[in-house]
Amino acid sequence: MLTIKCAACKRKLWKYDKIGHGQVLRCHKARIKRHYDYRTADNKILCVCGKQIGVDKGSFIKMIAKMFVYTGQKRHG
Ligand SMILES: [Zn+2]
Repeated sequence: MLTIKCAACKRKLWKYDKIGHGQVLRCHKARIKRHYDYRTADNKILCVCGKQIGVDKGSFIKMIAKMFVYTGQKRHG
C-alpha cells in the first residue's frame, strides 16, 4: 500500500493499493483505500495547500508527476 502525499507540503492525500512496479501514473478510485485531506474543483484534484495533484478522469485520477510523492510498498501483480 502506498501513501500518496503532496510534494509541496507533504500532507497525506490518500492510501493507494498500487499493483506492480511501474510508475504511479494513475490512481484508480476503486483501489484508493483511505482518504485524507484533499478536495476537488471541477475535474482538478487539489491538496488543501492549493497545489494540483491530478486530474479526475472518472474512474481514475490522472496523476501529475512531480506534484506528489509516496511512501510504502507496491504490490506484486
Ligand atoms: Zn499540499
